[in-house]
Amino acid sequence: MKLRNIGVVTSGGDAPGMNAAIRAITRVAHSKRMTVLGFERGWEGLMTGTFRPLTPRSVGGILGLGGTVLHTARSPNFETIEGRRKAARTLASNKVDGLVVIGGDGSFRGACELVRETDTPIVGIPASIDNDVFGTDETIGFDTAVNTIVAEIDKIRDTAISHERVFIIEVMGRRRGFLALSAGITAGAEVILIPELKLKNDEIIGTLEKNRAKGKKSGIIVAAEGVGDTRELAEKIEKQTKSEVRLSVLGYAQRGGSPTARSRLLACLFGNDAVELLSEGQEDRMVGLQSGRVATISLEDSCNNEKALDLTLLKLSNVLAT
Ligand code: ADP
Repeated sequence: MKLRNIGVVTSGGDAPGMNAAIRAITRVAHSKRMTVLGFERGWEGLMTGTFRPLTPRSVGGILGLGGTVLHTARSPNFETIEGRRKAARTLASNKVDGLVVIGGDGSFRGACELVRETDTPIVGIPASIDNDVFGTDETIGFDTAVNTIVAEIDKIRDTAISHERVFIIEVMGRRRGFLALSAGITAGAEVILIPELKLKNDEIIGTLEKNRAKGKKSGIIVAAEGVGDTRELAEKIEKQTKSEVRLSVLGYAQRGGSPTARSRLLACLFGNDAVELLSEGQEDRMVGLQSGRVATISLEDSCNNEKALDLTLLKLSNVLAT
């Protein structure tokens, strides 16, 4: 079947580079004489039939913008069969010949469910600051978030060194430690705490005390939010080491901002490949980066597998931070 009309939707948590992907999809599709509909507010837009046409001109000026101009939402109704049937009806009644979903693992679980309710081919583009999507080395937005965190840690380190203090810096990552690990190693953190490998308080304190004995009087602990109560941890370390410990929770600033060149590049490559896949008649695939090359896997495989964290990075970080 010749594709004429494709839909694009951004879903789940926003990530820098989603706009660059929307732009790439629209312009590549246009170059192949397809029209593009942008569904608004994630799955909500599919369920309510809220969309607008996207043209090469209307996506001008968004390449460097964080967030998503299509808006995004979390849509509990999409988790019901009625909700997904509504979405399928929207696709059919608007003659959408293919759908590109830009989002994280949750959005892809939704896409895997929608596949059962619709004949419209679906292709996923992984975009999430969390990097926790199976089938791609990296998600769009991850590099931007890591850079944002590292820039913040560099600033906080100035104070840590000046006041000879330990800082705990809490970063996003409720379930996974990708952000904490990449930011921790590249910012030279003395301790990295990730949900995948819980450290005992005594181990953390032991590392700090060893450092102090060697003359390293300040320290940075990067903690993923999923490791537990960081305020309580700060108090415990303070009590046991009798030294000042401060906590800085980085919060939502990690999600926003202009995408780095790397996040933009992934968006351009993934956007191009997603449209190519649809025009070749492939369906229910996810575009990703595998060993540095653009490659695809089935959406189903992405949904059913958990991406492993490279724990050798943690070992290396421990060596480098001595
Ligand atoms: P992300 O895509 O960033 O991981 P979420 O986990 O919030 O974000 O998922 C985005 C949306 O995808 C949810 O609000 C919901 O509408 C849909 N979704 C997630 N899991 C499922 C599921 N198992 N079945 C159907 N829809 C789902």
